[in-house]
Amino acid sequence: MDHALRRDRVLGAIRELELHALLVTRLPNVRYLTGFSGSSGRLVLGAERALLVVDGRYTQQASREAADVEPVTSLEGLVGPPIEIAAALGARVGFEREGVSFGEWERLRAAAGDDLELVPTDGVVELFREVKDEQERALIERAQAAADAAFDAVVLGDRLRTGVSEREIALELELEIRRAGADGVAFEPIVAFGESAAEPHHEPSARELRLGDLVVLDFGAEVGGYRSDMTRTVAFGPPSGRAREVYGVVADAQAAGVRAVAAGVAASNVDSAARTVVGEAGLGDAFSHPVGHAVGLEIHESPILRSTSDAPLRAGAVVTVEPGVYLPGVVGVRIEDMVEVTTEGRRVIPRTTRELIVL
Ligand code: ZN
Ligand code: ZN
Repeated sequence: MDHALRRDRVLGAIRELELHALLVTRLPNVRYLTGFSGSSGRLVLGAERALLVVDGRYTQQASREAADVEPVTSLEGLVGPPIEIAAALGARVGFEREGVSFGEWERLRAAAGDDLELVPTDGVVELFREVKDEQERALIERAQAAADAAFDAVVLGDRLRTGVSEREIALELELEIRRAGADGVAFEPIVAFGESAAEPHHEPSARELRLGDLVVLDFGAEVGGYRSDMTRTVAFGPPSGRAREVYGVVADAQAAGVRAVAAGVAASNVDSAARTVVGEAGLGDAFSHPVGHAVGLEIHESPILRSTSDAPLRAGAVVTVEPGVYLPGVVGVRIEDMVEVTTEGRRVIPRTTRELIVL
């Protein structure tokens, strides 16, 4: 879908909110609506005009990537000029509540003066981003293919050896993701050996791999701005009986969560489907995070699949299902897949196996 069509849809929402324009400050939203991928920029979106305000570093990139919006290079920062532009479009201008710091809000308020009404908005662009179009799904697919290739190269390619560190494996994953043609990693890979795996978001350390460790690898690639996210837990040497048992529970919970994914189903149902399995195994307290989240231009997007989110999943959304069990000092297991919500049900995107691999 081209950017102009996306902007048209958002304009419909802007009109419903009785706004004359929307000041888009969240960069993933700017990218979604214009194609501009720089690290600084503001979109002023009105019914008649769409202006992309950047500083001098990004003038050329903006005209190349976002050719169908009006480029504005500002030498006076990104608060005053966008506000002046917005004020010219009308007296009631929305801004993104989650897209400005308190300091920026104060500066916006001061620049707006008394004649311009600044109205906070919530998730206006994000709501459209939930449903991925064909082009977006293709990029997510390519990002996952790069991650699958990295898994093959690192895990099946024998790089997990006694004495190798978590940091070295994280680096290997990153190299292989880039080697597979991705633009980069979707986020810093999580690599956790043995007792480290009981920390859900462990930062790779100098911890060396030992026989009998479970290894948690949570990683993804980025292609054209779109991300992938996958977790696998593998065993280095024969795992303990307890580790096998926990793996089985998490695998069953993950499968139950995936089966619950369908258009129109509340996100909380996916969480409870997985959580019930973990709870029945007596490990409910050890599953300490929501079961998943949507993925796209950002690694964590709405909807978040947690027990309190009753919003229905929409066909075209791409969400993760990633239950985990974390027993401090003992064992940690997480299994995560991206799943596309389809009109018929669901489609699991990674091709990497979910069976326990024992190296
Ligand atoms: Zn992940
Ligand atoms: Zn995730």
